[in-house]
Amino acid sequence: MRLILLGPPGAGKGTQAKLFAGRFGAPQISTGDILRQAVADGTDLGRKARSFMDQGALVPDEVVIGIIEERLRKPDCARGYILDGFPRTLRQAEALSQTLRAIQAPLDRVVSVEVPEDDLVRRLSGRRVCRGCGQMYHVEANPSRQAGVCDKCGDSLYQRDDDTEETIRHRLRVYREQTEPLIAYYDQKGLLARIEGCGSIEEISQRIARALGRDESRP
Ligand code: AMP
Repeated sequence: MRLILLGPPGAGKGTQAKLFAGRFGAPQISTGDILRQAVADGTDLGRKARSFMDQGALVPDEVVIGIIEERLRKPDCARGYILDGFPRTLRQAEALSQTLRAIQAPLDRVVSVEVPEDDLVRRLSGRRVCRGCGQMYHVEANPSRQAGVCDKCGDSLYQRDDDTEETIRHRLRVYREQTEPLIAYYDQKGLLARIEGCGSIEEISQRIARALGRDESRP
């Protein structure tokens, strides 16, 4: 399965990408995760990306395009890929098309996960992430059993630096201006499926599976 999950910050792309990566045996490729790891490791890439990320701005196209070109050429992508958070601009989408042509791994589907803006702000401001395994929680909708501790691996939970209200509003504006045009771009190519991103994790994953032509009730 070769898939892009498109949608605003907080739409649940990361959660769904993890689920489908497990199901299809294909890697989840999140440029946000790769960049956060680079920041944590203090690499050159991390130093370049940090100020953009802290402001909720996009990291320059040439930086993220380079990351994706390298990542998609790794052997685990032979089984497919689930792109989460890339592409985010038309230039990134064009560069991606070129890379996918070069490695002969064309897209199967682009799923746009759609959620009203007020819900996104609520979701993002309550989001907590495990430092150890990346599992996501929400302080109200999906809290961990013990506050601040991951149910799965016992590591501590943290709030992302860019999950504060002002930065969230900015990230949503950036999404509307720079990323939303990709919905029409992929629709014109006949690759787009739109799904409603409200409801339980399970309900949303069923909608995605249907959009991919996979009936979840079958093994
Ligand atoms: P995310 O985890 O996908 O919400 O990404 C967090 C931050 O990483 C974004 O707000 C951007 O600063 C940066 N980022 C992630 N993916 C991209 C991308 N495809 N293009 C530019 N910046 C990105």
